[in-house]
Amino acid sequence: MGNNTNMDDTFNFDTLAVRSGTLRSEFNEHSEALYLTSSFCFSSAGEAAERFKTAETSYTYSRFTNPTVTMFQDRLAALEGGEACMATASGMSAILSVVMAALQAGDHIVSSQSIFGSTIGMFSQIFGKFGITTTFVDPADLDAWQNAVRPETKMFFLETPSNPLTEVADIEAISKISKAANALFVVDNCFCSPALQQPLKLGADVVMHSATKFLDGQGRVLGGALVGSRQFIMEKVFPFVRSAGPTLSAFNAWVLLKGLETLSLRVEKQSANALEIASWLEAHPAVKRVFYPGLPSHPQHALAMRQQKLGGAIVSFELKGDTPEQQRANAWRVIDNTKVCSITGNLGDTRTTITHPATTTHGRIAPEAREAAGITEGLIRLAVGLENAQDIRNDLARGLDAAA
Ligand SMILES: *Cc1c(COP(=O)(O)O)cnc(C)c1O
Repeated sequence: MGNNTNMDDTFNFDTLAVRSGTLRSEFNEHSEALYLTSSFCFSSAGEAAERFKTAETSYTYSRFTNPTVTMFQDRLAALEGGEACMATASGMSAILSVVMAALQAGDHIVSSQSIFGSTIGMFSQIFGKFGITTTFVDPADLDAWQNAVRPETKMFFLETPSNPLTEVADIEAISKISKAANALFVVDNCFCSPALQQPLKLGADVVMHSATKFLDGQGRVLGGALVGSRQFIMEKVFPFVRSAGPTLSAFNAWVLLKGLETLSLRVEKQSANALEIASWLEAHPAVKRVFYPGLPSHPQHALAMRQQKLGGAIVSFELKGDTPEQQRANAWRVIDNTKVCSITGNLGDTRTTITHPATTTHGRIAPEAREAAGITEGLIRLAVGLENAQDIRNDLARGLDAAA
């Protein structure tokens, strides 16, 4: 194994996306090889003994390392501007791995309250069983982050923009509070992807991904990743993943590698489509409010434009209605009248997806808590894809015009 096309950080993002992390075999294949093998052979007992001693850097067994997975890890590390990456089977197993690697019973997490529903469940229920507690704070309130710090605080956790209301939090400002508290600052970069936002450059210690979303970008496979310092990834995360086995499969790594090659093209076009649709929605008489960081009406528009290259692909909007029942009826009418958008929970796909968060992704939250979080019955989340933006507007207009 050799002929790694060594790329350094003098190359730009788009070059790194297609060329970094390539490992070529003795056949000199041009595209990345898919190594579907659970183990690797040795020429002698002595060589086996030697390779098992250096399992981090040599190939023995695919729960530990696999060349296709290594290529994905190296490419994503290059795109996030990190030293090293550990891939995992899903986004949730990346969160499991970072907490198991960095924390122990008695430790405390300060987390944004506006994070992925399953992440809230992991923090409040699963880790709670093992003596790791979490305080949830309003991500935009810097004093709240500061005031939540305790002597046993070991981790800060943030997702920006948030799901589904696209709230934007100041990564750089929160990183300073985290640093002063000696905590590990983990940022879930799922919504922007490194094509739009690179949290490590803004002071985050670890970037976490659900590769299932924009990194694959075509709705095919599950995957996750953690990117950070070589020391943290290799000395803390790798021993956990190697032993516990939430490893990314070689096949999924290969699919994700090819996804990374088109990441910036897709996300930039999806952001342009999203901005066009968000601006149009804002002017529609049936729409009460649009949540999109790329719109000047977004409360953190200036911060978003400083921190992100573009607004991203997620647009949420709230429909008018005199009662929650009427709001829900209007939202469902829009969703049920679409012919192009897919009614599904996934996001980050080339296909536009449409969701009613209050009855699906956020359906298990108590109604009062849901209203307090701003996820009303009239809210629709759109994850804009690569279709023609006018076709998506026409698709939404059928139900919106009927509601107006
Ligand atoms: C989907 C998602 C996750 C979980 O990722 P899986 O790959 O589904 O395990 C975590 N964070 C965010 C922001 C997500 O959208």
